[in-house]
Amino acid sequence: MSRRILASAELTIELGRIVDNYRRLGGWAGAADVAGMVKSDGYGLGAVPVSEALVAAGCRTLFVAQASEGVELRQALEGDQRASVDIYVLNGAHPGTEDALVEHRLLPVLNSLEQIDRWVDRRRSSERSLRAAVHLDTGMHRLGLPVEEARRLAAEPWRLADLEIDLVMSHLASADDPASGRNADQLRLFVELTRPYADHRLSLANSSGIHLGPEFHFDLVRPGYALYGGNPIPGRSNPMSPVVTLEAPVLQVRPVAAGDTVGYGATHRVLRAGRVATLGLGYGDGFPRALSGLGQARLGVHTVPVVGRISMDLATVDVTDVPESELWLGRPVELIGRHRLLDDVAHEAGTIGYELLTDLGSRYRRRYRTD
Ligand SMILES: *Cc1c(COP(=O)(O)O)cnc(C)c1O
Repeated sequence: MSRRILASAELTIELGRIVDNYRRLGGWAGAADVAGMVKSDGYGLGAVPVSEALVAAGCRTLFVAQASEGVELRQALEGDQRASVDIYVLNGAHPGTEDALVEHRLLPVLNSLEQIDRWVDRRRSSERSLRAAVHLDTGMHRLGLPVEEARRLAAEPWRLADLEIDLVMSHLASADDPASGRNADQLRLFVELTRPYADHRLSLANSSGIHLGPEFHFDLVRPGYALYGGNPIPGRSNPMSPVVTLEAPVLQVRPVAAGDTVGYGATHRVLRAGRVATLGLGYGDGFPRALSGLGQARLGVHTVPVVGRISMDLATVDVTDVPESELWLGRPVELIGRHRLLDDVAHEAGTIGYELLTDLGSRYRRRYRTD
């Protein structure tokens, strides 16, 4: 049997599984189209390769947060039929980004009457028709037209007359909690506020929102986390395919005696003589320091505990119970993957998988697999 050896920590991203997840979400969403949320560099996994895979699978709508992300994506996708993909910018036509939005044919998600008016002015000074979306705030109180502004817009439809509005959307605050009454409240308000836009495409649901029922689907669903293998229905078994594997090499193995301490601050005291393996990854790679003394790793068939503090470049695991013959230098140890589930690791670190993914830095050797 050939032994796999890593020179440094490695992030494997299975694009084929993102496409599987995309199709699965599309099945659940019924007649609704499925957009790809690729903000924050595709949840840390690479907005460009992820978008290319989604577009090849038929996705025609992408969302980023910032105009600069949209510019990068548009440039990367340009040059063939992929140029026809709609790229929406959730932060809207923020002052200072309008030129970039026009030049790169990005669609702002307009978040206030003020933004709408400014985009209309822009439209008048531009040759191009300016397509855009409108975001109505139905209870998140973060982005979007507040209810009073939404009502005013409905009463003054001429404000939108010069624009090509092709999507009216809102965002759910508690979709990951199906028992929350806020979901029905937001749905009711969305239905009411979008009554004047019956001939427009409507969109409400993120990953978790898709599971709240068909009445949440409208014309377009906007999953992010579930595409990347995160569990959209917390508390139930994850129906998505895992996408990410994070592995680090064994750099050293050392014997430790009872009473020895491991790592900064000597936070771990060895109780029985054994062995500690040092792994080549740390919080500088986005592996949470909060997992010091708490996390686990998977080495072959063995689950081993993280002992001592996680430092910038290194983490230590107790491998006393792993046969020495299995502890070769460079051996890959799984930190996130099939055995160390993204949602579980995040929970152990006191955070959510979203943050864990987006924290994964740029230091890894990245492998994109398409099979
Ligand atoms: C991030 C985001 C989504 C995707 O949410 P997930 O929970 O990752 O599916 C959808 N809509 C908006 C407005 C967002 O900001």
